[in-house]
Amino acid sequence: MLKLSKASKMPCRSWSLQALDTCPASRDRDTGALVPACSGCYATTGNYRFKNVKAPREHNRDDWKRPEWADDMVRELDNDRYFRWFDSGDMYDIRLARKILEVCERTPWVKHWIPTRMYKFSKFSVVLARLEALPNVVVRLSSDSITGEVISGSTTSTIATLDTVPSDAVVCEAYTREGKCADCRACWDKTVSVVAYIGHGRSMVKRQTDLIATTGA
Ligand code: SF4
Repeated sequence: MLKLSKASKMPCRSWSLQALDTCPASRDRDTGALVPACSGCYATTGNYRFKNVKAPREHNRDDWKRPEWADDMVRELDNDRYFRWFDSGDMYDIRLARKILEVCERTPWVKHWIPTRMYKFSKFSVVLARLEALPNVVVRLSSDSITGEVISGSTTSTIATLDTVPSDAVVCEAYTREGKCADCRACWDKTVSVVAYIGHGRSMVKRQTDLIATTGA
């Protein structure tokens, strides 16, 4: 059975997995430590710790393996116009990535936003390229940085401070609206090459400040 979520701040529904458990790219390959953007990930704090929020994400980890899953998703999205994959988690398995591709191909009336770090694994490059080629899909490659460093790619995102926003980025203004997207759809917009999310919360701001102090970023 499909379990979609709808965060009150988002203008659309989402299909998600448990953060970190399904985020193999969240760790530095050499040290095993969480990369800066994933350390203190929002999806491991606050409401995301509640059982009723965790349960559908844990359920989804097995559910996508059903043979009928893609058919069910296509049917479920019949009336959706925007969709966000991975409010938490990532497309950790190449078979899941291929199924998501199938869903996106069969739902051209839906604008899909797919944030991911799986570009770090070469075996995902073909499926990511096919997703990016679809007119209704934005694959937004997430930088590991919390100080505004941008990675290469046609549509990417980074976390920044107000002082380290990249010059070519569109700043996510949700932090000025209690986290709400309101009318903004920049994340779904293929013409927006970089979205910069302003770090917030005491722990994130402290880590950003410390990093800037030590590296001069
Ligand atoms: S940039 Fe716009 S669409 Fe993306 S999260 Fe922020 S408010 Fe929402």
